[in-house]
Amino acid sequence: MNISEQARQLIIDQQGEWELARKNYAGLKKVKTKKLAFDGYDMMVQFNPERIVSSSAKTDSKSIQARACFLCQSNLPKEQRDIPVMDKYMILVNPFPIFSEHLTIPSIDHPDQLIAANFGDMLELARLLDDFTIFYNGPKCGASAPDHLHFQAGVKGHIPIENDYKKGSFFHEVKSKNGVAISRWHGYARTVLTLSGSDKEQLVTTFYQLYTALEKEQPYEKEPMLNLLASFENSQWIVHVFPRKLHRPWQYFEEGEKQILLSPGAADMAGLLITPREEDFNKLAPMDLESIFEQVCLEKEVMDRVITQVFG
Ligand SMILES: [Zn+2]
Repeated sequence: MNISEQARQLIIDQQGEWELARKNYAGLKKVKTKKLAFDGYDMMVQFNPERIVSSSAKTDSKSIQARACFLCQSNLPKEQRDIPVMDKYMILVNPFPIFSEHLTIPSIDHPDQLIAANFGDMLELARLLDDFTIFYNGPKCGASAPDHLHFQAGVKGHIPIENDYKKGSFFHEVKSKNGVAISRWHGYARTVLTLSGSDKEQLVTTFYQLYTALEKEQPYEKEPMLNLLASFENSQWIVHVFPRKLHRPWQYFEEGEKQILLSPGAADMAGLLITPREEDFNKLAPMDLESIFEQVCLEKEVMDRVITQVFG
């Protein structure tokens, strides 16, 4: 079995030997979903009460220091088994799934959640796990463990942007450079840039150029705020970059009727919105999402500047 098949088998096996995984994967089959129509594309909303822990996670440094790291090997539940990869990561079953097959892929060691030195690893994971899309949430963009490097992976076919990318209607190529195509999305309610190509080193170089330009716009952050999705298909990598300027929208901090408990991470940015509370699921409308994305996405003007700087 290749790594992708081994990971899928692990998800099946763990449901037979780990009550929490069994219960939550069975529960996922019954979660409510709804489709919200935008101008030419859809977003999906999923009501998933088990995600409350992740959505409301306190990720400030004081809270993080006060808790035992749940991604460190010594703190994993005794039922949890792993597949080691690349001498650096463990493939784990995510016991709080939002996808029918959902993995967490932490580093074996405990370094901070930072992408600059690890983007090549993300591409390698996408190649090894080619039935899955790999996710990265920046330390202030949805990662519930900002102190422990990790990726997530969801089986392909559940994320709206995958389908919209295939349709090809919302983006155009800005530039093709050393075999890497750089495309920008328009009319999509979110700031997105897509890198694609078959040369890993060139993709890493291009990503790093983009990263450096974004870093100049947010010099006070540990890394420029972003979410990433990477997948591998027909010998090509496809990487969607969502540059951010805010962790959580005002609706998150409201009380009463105005509150929407939605803390956007990579899946949300890519069009699969997770609401752990039923009232939010029921009331969430396209207008709310447009407002939320406008707050959390890097402004168009800043993105224009970054793109001119990097790609001329
Ligand atoms: Zn850790």
